[in-house]
Amino acid sequence: MNVLVTGGAGYIGSHTAKALACRGFHPIVIDDLSTGHARNVKWGPLVRADISDTSTVRRILNEYSIEAVAHFAGSALVGESAAKPLRYFQNNVGATLSLLDAMREEGVTKIVFSSTCATYGLPDHALITEDQPQKPINPYGDSKLAVERVLGWMGLAGQLRWLALRYFNAAGADPEGDLGEEHEHETHLIPLAIGAALGQRERLKIFGKDYPTPDGTPIRDYIHVTDLASAHVNALQYIEHGGESRAFNLGTGRGASVLEVIRTVETIGGCSVPTEVAPRRAGDPPILVAGPERAHQFLKWEPRYSTLESIVETAWRWHSGVQCQTDLQTSSSNISA
Ligand code: UDP
Repeated sequence: MNVLVTGGAGYIGSHTAKALACRGFHPIVIDDLSTGHARNVKWGPLVRADISDTSTVRRILNEYSIEAVAHFAGSALVGESAAKPLRYFQNNVGATLSLLDAMREEGVTKIVFSSTCATYGLPDHALITEDQPQKPINPYGDSKLAVERVLGWMGLAGQLRWLALRYFNAAGADPEGDLGEEHEHETHLIPLAIGAALGQRERLKIFGKDYPTPDGTPIRDYIHVTDLASAHVNALQYIEHGGESRAFNLGTGRGASVLEVIRTVETIGGCSVPTEVAPRRAGDPPILVAGPERAHQFLKWEPRYSTLESIVETAWRWHSGVQCQTDLQTSSSNISA
């Protein structure tokens, strides 16, 4: 099956293109390279274009006989979204509407959409299941929810078969060392903590130590990017075999606090992470942990690399530039479930 991967030069999209190719699909990447990197596209062709460019998208869908779309392209930073709401709705909603229009014109009816746990806002329960209310508290989450709603309506109209995959905190790097997290302006906890430990950055700011959590720092459900990638392949198979259009949480069901992440980085790296306590970051809820049962049941998906140790270990190797194949093989066999 030929699959159009929008945003396939980015972090999760590139890991997914690799997973697709490894499991017999043909990924065709469209990416405007505004944040992604051409060097990450190694498992199929790259078309450098914006997904809002409807005529180019239609030509690709047609030329490559695309059967399904894995849609990653968009903006994904909570803090930035609070400062630039219009940009988030343009990039995440406006551009997706153009993509959906091109798909409708070309008769492509299957899509797997990158959604987020940020659509839930401040959850009512410790473990967030898919049927909990979606009340986002930042423009990023709200823009993703808007797309979920459009997909729902198009599904009801019989125009689309869709899955929305609500990621919790994507982290880690390809265990074989081919890919990792490379954002020009990094904002994510794990790469920043590793950068501080390696002396590449001065200090890690801990955004708030006064949250209602056991150690006062926010709790997140960190999920390995390779596990997210394999979930997309399972999702495409699920749609292909007639599975119902719906949303799935992708997380582990376990949370880790900012301080626990820092301690794990120190243990794996064997050096300390210099830190300072800073004010809370706008839009950050105290706790986000997935109830992941639905994805286990329907997608037959089980995370393999998502212990905090495995996440940090693969990320550490990537960021410290140690990509010794032998070591990696040993470590990935150690971390299989
Ligand atoms: N965080 C932090 N310092 C940083 C970056 C992040 O304390 O420099 C915290 C942030 O407040 C959140 C958690 O780490 O509670 C995860 O943030 P990240 O940006 O990695 O992912 P997000 O939860 O925003 O998707």
